[in-house]
Amino acid sequence: MIRARTVTAISSVRPAALAIAAALVAGCATDGDGAGAEAGVTAFEGATVLTGDGSVIPSAVLLVQDGQFAGVGASGEVEVPDGAERVDLSGKTVMPAIVNAHIHLSSERDERIAQLQHMAYYGAGAVVSLGTETGGVGIEMRGEVIPDAARAKTADRGITMPEPGRSEAPYWVETEEEARAAVRELAERQADIVKIWVDDRGGQYDRLSPELYGAIIDEAHRHGLMVTAHVFYLEDAKGLLRAGVDVFAHGVRDLDADDELMELWAERPEVVLVPNLPGPGVALDLSWLSGTVPPDQLAEMQAASVDNPAAQESFGIQARNLARFAEAGVKISFGTDGNAAWAPHQEMEDMVRSGMTPGDVIVAATKTSAELMSWDDLGEIAAGKSADFIVLDANPLDDIANTRQIDAVYLRGTMVDREGISARMLGAGTE
Ligand SMILES: [Zn+2]
Repeated sequence: MIRARTVTAISSVRPAALAIAAALVAGCATDGDGAGAEAGVTAFEGATVLTGDGSVIPSAVLLVQDGQFAGVGASGEVEVPDGAERVDLSGKTVMPAIVNAHIHLSSERDERIAQLQHMAYYGAGAVVSLGTETGGVGIEMRGEVIPDAARAKTADRGITMPEPGRSEAPYWVETEEEARAAVRELAERQADIVKIWVDDRGGQYDRLSPELYGAIIDEAHRHGLMVTAHVFYLEDAKGLLRAGVDVFAHGVRDLDADDELMELWAERPEVVLVPNLPGPGVALDLSWLSGTVPPDQLAEMQAASVDNPAAQESFGIQARNLARFAEAGVKISFGTDGNAAWAPHQEMEDMVRSGMTPGDVIVAATKTSAELMSWDDLGEIAAGKSADFIVLDANPLDDIANTRQIDAVYLRGTMVDREGISARMLGAGTE
């Protein structure tokens, strides 16, 4: 398999050209087990394919060339070219790589690369870091193709009222002028999205007022930027909808949604929800994390995973809200917050626990999230898209927890070195 070991900057190079460049850098050596960055075609045959838009191809052929899908369809409908390398995936299920629209990455380069590789190990193809970075590292690195790693976009620094001792990275603003100036800086630095926090943290801080977040949203829109809001209170969700917010980075957490909220949302159907559910407050079997979590740490995590009635109650509010939003046709995307690389699988399970179907959850976690972040070549298994996909040993439409049964992850047509990532993660934990 080809695996370029160099990091290549791509700001203006098309992915196909880049794949070829990477092959040249790698010396074009191949032992033929990957779809790699070679001129030839690889045909992945026989899997059940969940395409990301909600449709299913029961026995599919996926042609991959130069890091992209060159053909996608049912067996017999897509012709496999002579000389193509053939990979038998019968009995497997394939879904698009996950797009996680709310996480937080390190501001330190090497640690960030390790995080992006760890996320790729668990099937993420792309992630969005939401507003707690310093030093501009996310902006600097977002054009790079890092081997075995998810791609990333970034909000760079988000905007909040002062939160001394809690959150030092974001802009702290107290006047409309400061709020607009922060947005102008982000626009100049070409942040991918503007993140705001509208939360008093249980009464500890003042939260952004409607005047301040209104100014931020207005200024962001003047510069062609979307605004995503960390929100807690129902009342603020309403204010944000009135003020023109584009995305909620969390659901409503204090109360059940009421009719007024639903009416406001219905007037703005383009507003996307990243549900970002809290833990369900029930004991979970974490043994499936043994590939990257060292045994001692895993034992600690397992011991801490117990039934927790208070957590169940707050999960209940958000789960009922998600069910109501989904039922009302709100556009639902996907994010996990934090930086746990395995969290997407728990989040998908929690979304199903809330009442969404596995099929709808997979669409949220792939196509809808890619669209939200304008990743035009991600989120779907379709001709012309980047060949970013997960090969599973079981079908998540039968049980969403089957997304954990990962056989292989391919990013840009190349198989991710999961064994290498596992060895590094387990080794790092025992030092
Ligand atoms: Zn967050």
